[in-house]
Amino acid sequence: MIKETIEKLERGEVSARELVAHYQNEIKKKDPELNAYREVFSAEGGSASGGDDPFKTAEEIDKKIKHGDTPRALEGIPFAIKDNILVKGKLAGASSKILEGYTASYDATVIKRLRDEGAIFLGRTNCDEFAMGSSTENSAYGATKNSHDISRVPGGSSGGSAVAVASDMAAAALGSDTGGSIRQPAAFCGVVGLKPTYGAVSRSGLIAMASSLDQIGPITKSVEDAEIIFDVIKGRDELDATNLEAKLPSGSPTSLKTIGVPREYFSLAEMGKNGLDDSVAKKMHEAIDVLKKNGFEIKEVSLPSVDYSLAAYYIVMPAEVSANLSRFDGVRYGTREEGKNLFDVYTKTRAKGFGAEVRRRIILGAYVLSAGYYDAYYARAQKVRYLIRKDFENAFKDVDVLLTPTSPHPAFKIGEKTSDPLSMYLEDIYTVPINLAGLPAISVPFGSVEKDGKNLPIGLQLIAPWFEEKRLFEVGKILELAK
Ligand code: GLN
Repeated sequence: MIKETIEKLERGEVSARELVAHYQNEIKKKDPELNAYREVFSAEGGSASGGDDPFKTAEEIDKKIKHGDTPRALEGIPFAIKDNILVKGKLAGASSKILEGYTASYDATVIKRLRDEGAIFLGRTNCDEFAMGSSTENSAYGATKNSHDISRVPGGSSGGSAVAVASDMAAAALGSDTGGSIRQPAAFCGVVGLKPTYGAVSRSGLIAMASSLDQIGPITKSVEDAEIIFDVIKGRDELDATNLEAKLPSGSPTSLKTIGVPREYFSLAEMGKNGLDDSVAKKMHEAIDVLKKNGFEIKEVSLPSVDYSLAAYYIVMPAEVSANLSRFDGVRYGTREEGKNLFDVYTKTRAKGFGAEVRRRIILGAYVLSAGYYDAYYARAQKVRYLIRKDFENAFKDVDVLLTPTSPHPAFKIGEKTSDPLSMYLEDIYTVPINLAGLPAISVPFGSVEKDGKNLPIGLQLIAPWFEEKRLFEVGKILELAK
């Protein structure tokens, strides 16, 4: 936990150098099997990247502490960073072959902010290629394994970051979330994952997937840690035009009274549409009891358009993907295949550099944006998006926070869904509507269930109105404490 660690640093019970050594040791022991890291900065055997060295940063921090300087918000805290967030001087690849050899020439705004508050960077973590997936199996560098059961996926796309935190190979991590990529892996790995309000955290230096949906957020061991990190990374950045000055939260600790449970999420389950696992439904009921005991009123709410979320997402997202990924052409970034002419270079580089899932989405995106289909697909999906946003707006007239499962079931087996993209897309049924509406949401671990003799964590999702992250932390801490 961040606060306790900083207190220990201050009291001289541990040094930042020892913290880095501890995590590097854990990585050396566990990561050959788990494959959470793409690169460990300045690990034994040398680092492929230049840029900062965690031991050097740690030594500077130790000197400051000895000198009696007041510790900053993240003084000496070792972080794992998803491979799609730029750290100056380090390789950055979004776990794609097409970016092999690409070195970041600047820090993402979030990295700058963490650095300014004393964070240390341990390495970059594995993810689905360009953050497209729900299992980290789409990485061009092999799947990451769930530390609770290595025959299962850690979720995705920020699977490496979630495993790094869950198995104590980092104190905290950053991930990115376009349709669930922070929350779902956090749920599968038994850690906390926050997707901030769209516009609360700068996207400058994030390798874009779908720009109107992407947000960077923390993956942590506790709700309090997520809150500390969010407070550091949020706020106005002129490098991101969609970024807003996060408004002060209006919900004071005593004013939260009602929790909404969306009827459709359960009726979908009853109709067998999303296959809500009994074990997860049971946890939902337990959580409702906990919240009732804590004085909250539980209300059923209706989100009638939410049923169309996945369909709208799989039009809007690929459309933006096809535009964003057009810059990877063999000329400007990463690898290049030689060809007869420029067009040949483009097509050969892209055919070889992108994996199957990325190609599938680029093709789908180009199709829904093409003349004649634009109105039928893209424009329509945008209208549905507006309706979904309205549904949430209405729901929040009656309740302060919404409670849902994060995923319909616990972590699934490696290879179970790879041959059926549609079943993989259904993974995101509870998380995607939040990105379409731009809302903040957190996944909080809420115990575990036993499957094949292993304890698999379950995560529950809390959703708040725009810029009301404080509500998520407040209710999140209650759920966390109950388990
Ligand atoms: N699993 C979703 C997808 O494949 C979400 C990914 C994400 O949030 N980056 O698109």
